[in-house]
Amino acid sequence: LVSREHHPEKSTVVVGGVPIGPGTFTLVAGPCAVESPEQTLAAAQMAKAAGATLLRGGAYKPRTSPYAFQGLGQRGLEILADVRAETGLPVVTEVVDAHDVELVASYADMLQIGTRNAGNFGLLQAVGAAGKPVLLKRGMSATIEEWLMAAEYIAQRGNLDIVLCERGIRTFETATRNTLDIAAVPVAQGLSHLPVMVDPSHSGGRRDLVIPLSRAAIAVGADGILVDVHPHPETALCDGPQALVESDLRALAAVCRQLPPLL
Ligand code: PEP
Repeated sequence: LVSREHHPEKSTVVVGGVPIGPGTFTLVAGPCAVESPEQTLAAAQMAKAAGATLLRGGAYKPRTSPYAFQGLGQRGLEILADVRAETGLPVVTEVVDAHDVELVASYADMLQIGTRNAGNFGLLQAVGAAGKPVLLKRGMSATIEEWLMAAEYIAQRGNLDIVLCERGIRTFETATRNTLDIAAVPVAQGLSHLPVMVDPSHSGGRRDLVIPLSRAAIAVGADGILVDVHPHPETALCDGPQALVESDLRALAAVCRQLPPLL
């Protein structure tokens, strides 16, 4: 269902009125984790000023350590809904458990499946039945074929509103958090009609790499990027070292203007 053989033309996925796909380049930005109403609103205002048209932010955080901040749960969803009302930015947020899909879908404009759940077939089927667009991160150890098959699990439940997101894979390299597989963008676009975005924040894991990796994503023809921003990254409860601050966002917006996306 997600292959070009089935559907030769590139698809557009509309999220809260915002199109992702051919003829567009979508900037999704926001905090890695929703921490408080003030932090989320400040991050959303930074994102909007930089030209973002969708707000990202995790209320449920799948952390490597069970002792790390796990997210605010339903309270985080409420904060995201309030910030959407204030800024007008539709919300993309992760769901980590099939039991929470209905609840998260009642707040979100787009459901995110994170790298750690990209092979959780029950969850993929549940989001496929939820009636909301899905942002499907690539599993950190998934081949492109496995990633597309994960999308197929969603599509099979009647939902073709899926955006693929390359977010780096596990390799022997330790200088970056993950290795951005930039070639995966045109390869996936060649095999599938679904839009393909890049997450330069979770792939590099470092603020100074976000702009270079965004340039690469634009150059290779990605349909958009997903970036972490934070008003005070030094106090962030999750992934502060990769969060952009206001001046970085201005620089990112300038890059998007200088290096026009291949539409
Ligand atoms: C995220 O985008 O918040 C996230 C946790 O990303 P990933 O699943 O790619 O690590």
